Amino acid sequence: AVPMAVSIAVVAASRKGVVIRRGDVFDRLLESSTIIFDKTGTLTIGKPHVENIWIVNNTVDEKTLLFYICSVESRSEHPIAKAVTDFCKDKGVETGDVEEFNHFPGLGVVGIINNSTVSIGNMELLKRMGVEEMEKLEKIDDIISSKGSTPVLVALNNSLVAVIEVSDRLRPEAEKVVRYLKSLGYRIGIASGDVKGSVERYAKALQLDFYRYELKPLEKTELVKEIQSKGEKILYVGDGVNDAATISVAHVGVAMGGGADVSKEAGDVVLTSNKLSDLVFIIELSKKVRRKFL
Ligand code: ADP
Ligand code: MG
Repeated sequence: AVPMAVSIAVVAASRKGVVIRRGDVFDRLLESSTIIFDKTGTLTIGKPHVENIWIVNNTVDEKTLLFYICSVESRSEHPIAKAVTDFCKDKGVETGDVEEFNHFPGLGVVGIINNSTVSIGNMELLKRMGVEEMEKLEKIDDIISSKGSTPVLVALNNSLVAVIEVSDRLRPEAEKVVRYLKSLGYRIGIASGDVKGSVERYAKALQLDFYRYELKPLEKTELVKEIQSKGEKILYVGDGVNDAATISVAHVGVAMGGGADVSKEAGDVVLTSNKLSDLVFIIELSKKVRRKFL
């Protein structure tokens, strides 16, 4: 039978929109020593927006290019895709049919439209697509990274044609929550698929203990497994479409409410309220549950 204190705590949590999906979560939360956040949608609001777009090659006119970009991104559910399609729609850009759409987790998207292959994503995606003349990019990439934004690269067939600067914002409560978690003695880090400059900016602003960048979804899972194999227990907080596996392997997996359904299914805890401060709430609740048994 489930001890009374646990049942009461589960009900109290559900009233706040915090879904506890296994009874031993409270013990597990207090056993964890390290917290890892997946940056986008957890520490940040997860609603990035387009700051700027640089056209670096005039093989097609701007209107056609935006039409290609918008058509391909409208097939993706990634927050970056939302930022890009919103930007295009504001400019009155239409969308067309995409043949052979592919989403590469942690890298970006590729689609064929009007017999042109349109690749949109990070450096690694473009390298894999055989895009040449990447050195052109270095200067723009430096500028974007140093601002803490994310460069989203666009290639048409084998050439780089545009760079889109996308940026997100720290959740307003993030600093306070992190400060509190640190005061409890947790070691805190970020594991992100984003570029170094952007991840570093958030890690420094929050004075985190460590950060890892340009990780593909599988590499985040490996990181958690590797740290846990050394005896540390991890509380992982994620929200992305690609985070389900990492949420599952962590000692406690927390899914933020704004995220994908697959991550919610994988989570031991689901913050449907989508409030980072509810992380503090469940840790405090765990302490209360423990005291009831003493
Ligand atoms: P995070 O760990 O920050 O949540 P993701 O694994 O979701 O990162 O994505 C990693 C990177 O992959 C993004 O920073 C972006 O460069 C690229 N990417 C993924 N999906 C898309 C997309 N639909 N459009 C453009 N870029 C994408
Ligand atoms: Mg993500």
